[in-house]
Amino acid sequence: MELPPFRPPSEAFSYLIRVVRGCNWNRCLFCSMYKAIKFEQRAKEEILRDIDEIPKYFPKSNSAFLGDSNPLIHKDIVEIVRYLKAKRPELERITAYARIKTIANMQEEKLEELKSAGLTRLHMGLESGDDEILGLVQKGITAEDAIKAGKKAGKFFETTYYVITGLGGAERSERHAKNTARVINEAKPTFVRIRNLTITNPDMEGLIKPLGAEEQLLELKNLIEGIKTETYFTCDHVSNYLFTERGPIFTGVHGRIPEEKEEMLRLIEDTLETVKALRKAGVEVFTSNDMFRMGLISL
Ligand code: SF4
Repeated sequence: MELPPFRPPSEAFSYLIRVVRGCNWNRCLFCSMYKAIKFEQRAKEEILRDIDEIPKYFPKSNSAFLGDSNPLIHKDIVEIVRYLKAKRPELERITAYARIKTIANMQEEKLEELKSAGLTRLHMGLESGDDEILGLVQKGITAEDAIKAGKKAGKFFETTYYVITGLGGAERSERHAKNTARVINEAKPTFVRIRNLTITNPDMEGLIKPLGAEEQLLELKNLIEGIKTETYFTCDHVSNYLFTERGPIFTGVHGRIPEEKEEMLRLIEDTLETVKALRKAGVEVFTSNDMFRMGLISL
């Protein structure tokens, strides 16, 4: 049994199926996930064998996740999903990471086939809706690709768009928030999941200056203010946290937009006031970058 090295937090209890190894793009400067892995499509027979062996390795689950970064490009992906669904009838949810470029270029017929086979949700990395930032970090997509992919995938699946706060640094913070909200409003993902930029890849050093705590909160606030479409917004990752020496003082915001938007904005504003008061009292506030550098969190 071969497992994908990464999976979204929401797939913690899913069966994990490795369909491809690594990332076929592998050039994003902020990402160190698959840098050491050569991209390969696994042999179909091996994958089907792993599916047969699921009961040996996982407790019973109603969800499955396909890795690594872009399994939909596997030549036998429809057959693999169909086999998984047939072998594990308890599955209510089958999800996969997917590159926005791949979905933007994929025929709708293929997406329809994948839906009939049993695929239900795609996790896609938008990171930013700003073309200058996307170019700067070598994401290999444009805002228009992201809108096209979101609209297309949304006809067949639930979709998650991941966004990285801080990706443009302080100098591009406003345009990052504004243009990312614009893409989300048009692409209409079911979920928006936030990660705060934590520099783990040396290629990113010096390219932008990571946000401080107040800047991170302001960017998050601007982003949420700009989102007008219905979606579930969540900061479900430790990179969003803010800390003092005594522990976390902010663990992100979570809620439905528009219903819980005001509540999320209020919590961010309250946290901003808390950070200011702590600074005034001489207490240091640490972001995920500070914590990572000090070796106190790993990502
Ligand atoms: S962010 Fe996604 S597309 Fe970019 S290198 Fe990492 S896994 Fe590949």
